[in-house]
Amino acid sequence: MPSLSNPRNTIEIIQKYHFVFQKKFGQNFLIDTHVLDKIIRAANVTREDCVLEIGPGIGTMTQYLAESAGRVVAVEIDANLIPILRETLAGYENVTILHEDILKTDIKALAETYNGGRPIKVVANLPYYITTPIIMGLLEGGAPVDNITVMVQKEVAERMQTGPGSKDYGALSLAVQYYAEPYLVANVPPNCFLPRPSVGSAVIRLTKRPKPAAEVRDAELMFRIIRASFNQRRKTLLNGLSHSAELPFSKESVAAAIEWCGFPASVRGETLSLEQFARLSDRLGEADGGGISV
Ligand code: SAM
Repeated sequence: MPSLSNPRNTIEIIQKYHFVFQKKFGQNFLIDTHVLDKIIRAANVTREDCVLEIGPGIGTMTQYLAESAGRVVAVEIDANLIPILRETLAGYENVTILHEDILKTDIKALAETYNGGRPIKVVANLPYYITTPIIMGLLEGGAPVDNITVMVQKEVAERMQTGPGSKDYGALSLAVQYYAEPYLVANVPPNCFLPRPSVGSAVIRLTKRPKPAAEVRDAELMFRIIRASFNQRRKTLLNGLSHSAELPFSKESVAAAIEWCGFPASVRGETLSLEQFARLSDRLGEADGGGISV
């Protein structure tokens, strides 16, 4: 099978199967060999690796992955792409095609079946409409994952890797950085895809940390606090947290915890680091347990 990254071959296979692009599945296929090379290199794929590819499309990146990895498991939701993948990947014995919705796939079980429970690598040109649930599912879901190298919308890549003080900093930055170390691999312009997306793209690699970046007693509470802080960006942290329907804390207990942490009374959530959110969460959690709040 000739390489699909040549746009002519991509168009040929699309025409042969009368394939119609589905916007609802975020279908923008990669047609640039340099970008494909960069992704595979950044993911550091070797023959020892089992790679999960999310959304293989017509199999362009899958062919590249199959050349470098020990095993590739490609999960594709669109039934119309399955016969195409069977043809484009026919020569590769180390590829398994699964016709599934990745949001319903048990990735822990997949790693068990295809890699004996050892950590897998995830590589994908993601469907942008579900970037966040896919990434958070991979990071929080308890599946053994080594690294995740993915094409995402440029703004989302920026949000994942930025820190306090930036306009892009938010709940996604903190959630990603709690579990993983982000590294921006490359910016990718719309002309590298067919059809061209209306937004810029970027490849980001998230290397899962051996343990989370901050020590916190109740991570779930910390993320509720983080979400509440960023839900109401223009409010002070004090108002954001004490008026949140997701949190049980009184204004007095929030004010006391902010003071105990040494933050100014008018502090905003967007200036706090992960470490500082962890301290605040531990303090509020203690106060809650002591019956001070509610
Ligand atoms: N990997 C191909 C490439 O780079 O040319 C295609 C990438 S395209 C941006 C996203 C792919 O994800 C499409 O093939 C689409 O059908 C698939 N997809 C969308 N939603 C999905 C889901 N929930 N589960 C699995 N695949 C999905």
